[in-house]
Amino acid sequence: MSRWLDPVKNLRLDLEKVRANVKNADTEDLLDRATVYRAGMEPAALEIIDAELRSRGVSEEATAAHAARRGAGVRDDDGLPMKCEKCRGPAVARVWVWHRLWGVLPLFPRRAAFCEVHVPPPPQPRPKRSPPGGIVTKG
Ligand SMILES: [Zn+2]
Repeated sequence: MSRWLDPVKNLRLDLEKVRANVKNADTEDLLDRATVYRAGMEPAALEIIDAELRSRGVSEEATAAHAARRGAGVRDDDGLPMKCEKCRGPAVARVWVWHRLWGVLPLFPRRAAFCEVHVPPPPQPRPKRSPPGGIVTKG
């Protein structure tokens, strides 16, 4: 049987990919996967991540502290944590943004999730324009 049709070989291949990915991931990313994204992870992948964290000397206390620091975050309709649009980190806020054609032309508003680093600032109130005639009003 071809290795592409054999589910056992495919699974082994996938786990090798996961192992290589986990080895190259930074600890903060692994902690996010082991805590925030835990519910959506494959058990076999979680075993690899947990083992890698232990081998890097990350204690269970440190993992629990990371989970507490990240908080509940923003969840999608299925109850799974959402990722930041810009960096794939755990989202902390969901805000309305413009979907832009080629990143420029605003087409329609949509909801987007952002992490604590990339969440856009709330819109500032527009400064009052001076009425025709040049009289500036304050307040
Ligand atoms: Zn981000």
